[in-house]
Amino acid sequence: MEKANEWAVAKYTGWGITARNEQWGQWRGWERGISHIDMVYPRTKSLESTQLAWSPGMGDKTVTAELVILPDLEDSLAFQKWLPAVKGKFVMVSMLQPTGRPDYNWQEFATPASFEKMKKDRTAQQEAWTNRIKKTGYTNKTLPVALEKAGAAGVVGSNWSAGFGVDKIFGAYTKKIPTIDIALEDYGLLYRLTESGDKPKISVHTESKERGVVPTFNTIAEIKGSEKPDEYVILSAHFDSWDGGTGATDNGTGTLTMMEAMRILHLVYPHPKRTILVGHWGSEEEGLNGSRAFVEDHPEIVSKVQAVFNQDNGTGRVVNLSGQGFLNSYDYLGRWLAKVPSNIRDSIQTHFPGTPGGGGSDFASFIAVGAPAFSLSSLNWSYGTYTWHTNRDTYDKIVFDDLRNNAILVATLAYMASEDPATSSREKACCPSISGQASPPNGPNKQNPSVKADLTNYHPKTKGPERGLYYSTIS
Ligand SMILES: [Zn+2]
Repeated sequence: MEKANEWAVAKYTGWGITARNEQWGQWRGWERGISHIDMVYPRTKSLESTQLAWSPGMGDKTVTAELVILPDLEDSLAFQKWLPAVKGKFVMVSMLQPTGRPDYNWQEFATPASFEKMKKDRTAQQEAWTNRIKKTGYTNKTLPVALEKAGAAGVVGSNWSAGFGVDKIFGAYTKKIPTIDIALEDYGLLYRLTESGDKPKISVHTESKERGVVPTFNTIAEIKGSEKPDEYVILSAHFDSWDGGTGATDNGTGTLTMMEAMRILHLVYPHPKRTILVGHWGSEEEGLNGSRAFVEDHPEIVSKVQAVFNQDNGTGRVVNLSGQGFLNSYDYLGRWLAKVPSNIRDSIQTHFPGTPGGGGSDFASFIAVGAPAFSLSSLNWSYGTYTWHTNRDTYDKIVFDDLRNNAILVATLAYMASEDPATSSREKACCPSISGQASPPNGPNKQNPSVKADLTNYHPKTKGPERGLYYSTIS
């Protein structure tokens, strides 16, 4: 994040655009190191595997040990009795998937009967596995910690993302032992060998660095308004990402779209009426923290927002735009869209006044305080399965023609919003309730920027640069 923030400021500065890094809080600094994970018995095979974010480093240690599968026991008492059996072993905490083929592949090639049978069996298996974990008396979050306390060598999961060779890579809950993800194909191999008594062994070496509590930033760049400098058009895309891949489509592509729009605007529209500001938010993935903090720290900006345009669902062309429950959004968004080149505009479905987004990305931080904020929603390009928070969210998935389309769209909307003689109405649409009385639609509640990811060692602070999550004593 540090390097990205510095890079973005340097890039904008090089283009002649004023930019700064604004500290919004602090967070647990962690640096990913190498993950080397191999099966060493009964035969040798390098495994497709990586440590989860915030997994504790092992220094120069390599641990070679057998595996044990989380057993299906009667209740938490039985589990406590069994727990010492994990000592010195890697514990497998994910179920064995019945297939590594995505459903679309089954749909195409399986007989309808066998597809149905697979789905039915899988659902039953998933329910049984959920129940297996529940009966331990722990949750997915607390179980790894219990295993660690009982002396396990490490926690091994497989968070399949329902596509060929693709896993979601999130954060670890262990404090001392590594938590790793092994891809379905290799996890399945180990699972079957363990189940059939072949006692496979894996060798695990992961490195990472704890950096303690570090300041965390939003990168902000601005083209100052010439007539109404204290009114704002805000371009918005989060800058952080999960790190199983490189975050290319979540949210490298949103970032590139907004940066390119700023570059274009600075070249062809250097003296906008209103100030055009871009926010590259930190810590979106941990609960929209950077944007929420910005909203809290800058009431003077947020109260004078003409429009916020946020993009955060992959590399595709923007195809959906909702009025987010703003009653008059049709008027102004309609006016602005009318000037977008038709080959870009014609594929966008609009919904007016729409309903306010309750979260999901940074526009919700603005809607929560009544600012007209909109999500530029993209064509999916298998985003949910293949790139969102996965080990496959990498550069090769970017579709640059679509980004070009989006940069033109954003630059045009920003230009139109800046030029509009009228100030955007913030009036919200009201929905008749059952009793016939009007009530506002449900919107996101304003929340303090703090905790979505439950990093159990951290406590929220709510104000100033101290805000964020910081260390307490590890218990
Ligand atoms: Zn995102």
